[in-house]
Amino acid sequence: MNIKELDGKYIAGTYKRSPVAAVAGKGSVITDENGKHYIDMGSGIGVTSFGIADDVWQQAVISQISRIQHASNLYYTQPCVELAQMLCERTGMKKVFFSNSGAEANECAIKAARKYAADKYGPQRHVIATLRNSFHGRTLTTLAATGQDHYHELFTPLTEGFVSFDAGDLAALEAIQADGTLAAVMIKCVQGEGGVIPLEADFVKALRAFCTEHDVLLITDEVQSGNGRTGRLYAYMNFDIVPDIVSTAKGLAGGLPIGATLLGNKCENVFSFGDHGSTFGGNPVSCAAAVSILSRIDDALLAKVREKSAFIFSSLEGASGVESVSGMGLMIGVKTKKPAAEIVQACIEKGVLCLTAKDKVRLLPALNIDDKLLKDAIDVLKEVCADQGRV
Ligand SMILES: *Cc1c(COP(=O)(O)O)cnc(C)c1O
Repeated sequence: MNIKELDGKYIAGTYKRSPVAAVAGKGSVITDENGKHYIDMGSGIGVTSFGIADDVWQQAVISQISRIQHASNLYYTQPCVELAQMLCERTGMKKVFFSNSGAEANECAIKAARKYAADKYGPQRHVIATLRNSFHGRTLTTLAATGQDHYHELFTPLTEGFVSFDAGDLAALEAIQADGTLAAVMIKCVQGEGGVIPLEADFVKALRAFCTEHDVLLITDEVQSGNGRTGRLYAYMNFDIVPDIVSTAKGLAGGLPIGATLLGNKCENVFSFGDHGSTFGGNPVSCAAAVSILSRIDDALLAKVREKSAFIFSSLEGASGVESVSGMGLMIGVKTKKPAAEIVQACIEKGVLCLTAKDKVRLLPALNIDDKLLKDAIDVLKEVCADQGRV
């Protein structure tokens, strides 16, 4: 049996895969089993921040893995504390809990918020409000936090205590808060799966003020939007606010599993021994990889991310067959006249890998994608989108 037949026989049927078997790559080029090259405009869903098999990243991983690959959280390890210090110094957050995925980073954020509220106000104060159309993960609790009913249907009962409201509708949030049970609000500054749409700046500011006034914690889910993706280190930094808790994952370790939950002033000491834990969390190889990635996301790199972003926007806005372009930094949604799935398939045939988000084509290239490759990929996308009858 070939790889596709084996996958069909032995892998649980949760994924609709594209007909590409990725075997190797370098930077923003991926090679399939037949030796065909693709320009990677998805970076493994925003994970391979500096591309495939990046030399500096690879060296950091090899160097750590040849010393010790795992010790458990019973013992101290250097990469784990180094990464935590780096994250705190660059965000102003105070403490970090490490896990292995975005969903786990959000679970920890939710546990921290509930514990903070219960310690101070009693257990009835446990409600977490999230935005409609959000996506926060696949565990039963982060599904409950995900404000899209179709994700819930097959798995009820989910974790209780979640309500969702529309972005921009502060009055709805006031109504939720009125009975005194609201512990936290969890938002994504840029909805990723929800169509790659940034929140309104005024709404984010008002939300921050509302949360401060009522001692409700503001959690930003930066699983996808974090670690340079939007042209700032974290997406909230585009909005001139400081959250109480930040969760992140995807791009942080450049391709190895990691989740991080950053706790601000209010809740830095909310957890004591035994309140939370993870066997793999803070794994030294993942943390060494993340130290390497984070130390390269400096002002110069972020400026380059914003330049590449401006190039994509200006190339696609008004292009034939393109209705609109949304997003921030290198997290971009393209509304096309033809169905997004057809565009993605046509791009694969022409050697470019893109993603979808709802009815849009989603682009999440590596932060350091080579300008020539980026131009070539955008040219292919434009060609595929073009409404031939009209040009
Ligand atoms: C991908 C994603 C998650 C889930 O992350 P996993 O690592 O798949 O658990 C949660 N929130 C956001 C915003 C994401 O993009």
